[in-house]
Amino acid sequence: MNELLSDIKYLPGVGPKRAELLTKELGVATFGDLIHMYPFRYIDRSTIMRIGDIRTGLAYIQVVGRVLRADLCGPGGSVFDPNAPGFRFNAVKRLSVTVTDGSGELEMVFFKGIRWNWERLRPDSVFLFFGKPSEFNGHINIVHPEVDNPPAPGTAQAAGTLTGVYTIPEKLKNAGITGRSIGRMMSAALAACLPQVEDTLPDYILTEKGLCTLRFALQNIHFPASQDALAKATRRLKFEELFLLQLSLLKQKYIRTRAEGGIPMPKVGPDFNACYESLPYDLTGAQKRVIKEIRADLMSGRQMNRLLQGDVGSGKTMVAVLSALIAIGNGYQACIMAPTEVLARQHFANIQKYLSPTSVRSAILTGSSTVRERREIHAGLEDGSIGLIVGTHALLEDNVIFRSLGLAIIDEQHRFGVDQRSKLWSKGPDELHPPHVLVMTATPIPRTLAMTLYGDLDVSVIDEMPPGRKPVQTLQIGQAKRAQLYAFMKREIAKGRQVFVVYPLIFESEKIDLKNLELGYEDIVKAFPFPDYKVAVVHGKQSNEEKNFNMDAFAAGRANILVSTTVIEVGVDVPNASVMVIESAQRFGLSQLHQLRGRVGRGAEESFCILVRDNKLSNESRKRLDLMCATQDGFELAEEDMKMRGPGDLEGTQQSGLPINLGIASLARDGILLSEARAYADRILAVDPSLSDPRNAVLSRELRSSKYEIKDYSKIS
Ligand code: ADP
Ligand code: MG
Repeated sequence: MNELLSDIKYLPGVGPKRAELLTKELGVATFGDLIHMYPFRYIDRSTIMRIGDIRTGLAYIQVVGRVLRADLCGPGGSVFDPNAPGFRFNAVKRLSVTVTDGSGELEMVFFKGIRWNWERLRPDSVFLFFGKPSEFNGHINIVHPEVDNPPAPGTAQAAGTLTGVYTIPEKLKNAGITGRSIGRMMSAALAACLPQVEDTLPDYILTEKGLCTLRFALQNIHFPASQDALAKATRRLKFEELFLLQLSLLKQKYIRTRAEGGIPMPKVGPDFNACYESLPYDLTGAQKRVIKEIRADLMSGRQMNRLLQGDVGSGKTMVAVLSALIAIGNGYQACIMAPTEVLARQHFANIQKYLSPTSVRSAILTGSSTVRERREIHAGLEDGSIGLIVGTHALLEDNVIFRSLGLAIIDEQHRFGVDQRSKLWSKGPDELHPPHVLVMTATPIPRTLAMTLYGDLDVSVIDEMPPGRKPVQTLQIGQAKRAQLYAFMKREIAKGRQVFVVYPLIFESEKIDLKNLELGYEDIVKAFPFPDYKVAVVHGKQSNEEKNFNMDAFAAGRANILVSTTVIEVGVDVPNASVMVIESAQRFGLSQLHQLRGRVGRGAEESFCILVRDNKLSNESRKRLDLMCATQDGFELAEEDMKMRGPGDLEGTQQSGLPINLGIASLARDGILLSEARAYADRILAVDPSLSDPRNAVLSRELRSSKYEIKDYSKIS
C-alpha cells in the first residue's frame, strides 16, 4: 500500500468534512499532497521573551506566564460573575486573561473557545503562550495565542526550535484548522509516508550537486532540526523544482531541434536586398545582429522558435519585414499577426512602405474585411500570389489556407492565447513542416521569468534604440494641478504636437472605468473646445469602424488629443505625439506604464509622460510612480514589478500566461539557482538527450508526472 496516495480523510484528525475543505481550498487530496505543502515561513520558538521587554511591532513571540486572573467580559468592558444566577456563557463577548512572569503583565484575549480556555487557564497555573502582540487602546495584548504546557525547567527548546507557518485559508480557519492542527497532521503524514518516499533525483546528482536526500528534505522543511538543516532542505527542494522544470523544457527543445522538420531557407533573395538597400536609415547594431540570428535559424534546416524582445520603439517591425522577405525569397509565404485591428492596420500601412521597392504582394485580413475582400485574399493565399499577409486572429480561421506558409510572425505575444498560437503551426506546407515562428514582444520579461516561460525558445534581444531618441521626461502630479496640466497641453498643441490621454480599464470594474473615461472626455472637451481643438476618443465598447475612424483621425493629425482606454498600449505609432497623460496612474502596473510611455518620444521632439495620480495612494503605488519617474529602462522596471508584486501575481496574469505553478522556488528570488539548474539540465541532456540511460530513469519518470508536463509547450509560440 502506497501511503503517499492515501486519501487525506484517513489521516488522524482529518475526517471527511475537513478532507473536503483541504482538497478544495489547498488542493490537498492525499497524504503525499500534504507533505508537499511547505511552510511559507518559520518562527523561531527557541527564545522565551520577558514580558517586560515586549514592545509593539514584534513578530510572533512566546512567553511563559502565570495566570493572575481570567475575566469573562460582556459588552462595554463589564465583567460577568460566573456564579451569579442567570449567568450564561453565551452572553460573554470576550475572555481576558492576565498573566505575569515577574517582569510585567500581559493580557491574552479570546473571542472564541471562551469556555474551554476559561476552564483551562485557572488562576495560578503556568503556561507557554505563543502569538503576535498587538496594541489595543494603548496597551499590548495577544489575541488568540497558542497555549501550551510550559517547558520543563532548563529545556527552553522543548517546543522545537523552528516552527513552520503554513498558509491557512479563511474557510479552513473557520472549520477550526489552526497552525497547530496542520502541524499535527503533517507529523502524522510524514510518519506514514517518509519510509516510502523514493528520491526524485538520482544519487549521482545528489553527490555532484551536494544535495540532501528527499526524505531528509521533507522531514526538515516541515520540522527543521536546525537552521542548517532547514537551509539544506530548502536548497534541495528548490533545486529539484527548477531543475526538473528546465529539464522538461530543454528536453522538448532537443527533440524539436533534432527533428528534420524545419523548412530550409538557404538564400536571402532579391526582395530582401531591394528593401534593405532602400531603407531610409541604417539599421542599429542590435537590429543587424538579430536579423543575423534569424537568418541563421532559417538556414539551419531546423524549425525556428524565437522570441524577439525589444523595448517599445526599438524597431522590431523592420526586423519582422526583413525576416518575412527571407521566407518569401525562398519561395514561401509569411504572415504577421497583430493583437488588434488598429495595430494590424498600422503595421500594414508601414509594411507597404517598406515593400514598395520589392515585387512582393501584400494584403490585410481582419475581422472587418468584407466578404468580397476575403474571397480575394483567400484565393491569393491559396495560389501563393500573396507573399505577405498582415492580420488579426482572422488569420487563424480554418478557411484561411496558405499555399506554403514558411514564417509566422506574432507581434505582442502576450495578447494571444496558447491555443491560438499553436493553431498557426497547423498552417505550414504539411504536417511535418510547421512554419518557422518569430514572436515579438515589447514587454521586457525579466531574465528569470523568460527562462522559465521560454526555456524552449531561443531569445533575441534588441537592446539598442535607433539614434536620436530623447528620453521621455516623466513626472507625476496630483489632481490639484489639473489646470496647469491643461495649460501645458495647450502649449504643446500650439507647437503642433499631439497628446494622448489614457484612462485605466480594468476588467472587474469595466463599467466604472468607462464612466471615468466618459467624464474625463467631457472635461477635456470643455477645456479644449471645438473648433480650436479636436478631440478623438477610442474605447473598447465602440464598433471597429468607430475605433478605426477615431484612431485614423489622430494618426493622421486631424485630432489634437486622443482620449482612450489602454487600447493604444500596444504598438500604435504616432511620431508627432509628444505628450502622454496617464489618468489614475497608480492603477497601472509598472510594465504597463512603461508600455504607454513608449508611445511618445518616437519623433525628434522633446516628449513628456505625465502621471496623474489620485489623492489616496498606497505606499506601493507611490513607490511605483516614483520609480517610473526615475528610470526609462524597461528591464529594470520589469524586474522591480516582479519583486513588488511577486512572481505569483505575474504568474496569475494573462500577461505572462505562465502555465507552471512553482511550489517552493521563486522566480524573483532564486534567479541564480535557476541558472545553475538550467546549465546542469543542459549538461545532462547533452550526454543523454532522451534520458534513456538507466541512471536517469528516475528523471524520466518524474518528467512524466503531471507537474512538469507543460501543455504543448514547444507550440506555445
Ligand atoms: P517597435 O519595436 O516598438 O515595434 P517600430 O518597429 O514601430 O518599434 O519602430 C519605431 C520607429 O522607429 C518607427 O518609426 C521606425 O520607422 C523607426 N526605426 C526603426 N528602426 C530604425 C533605425 N534603425 N533608425 C531609425 N529609425 C528607426
Ligand atoms: Mg511594434
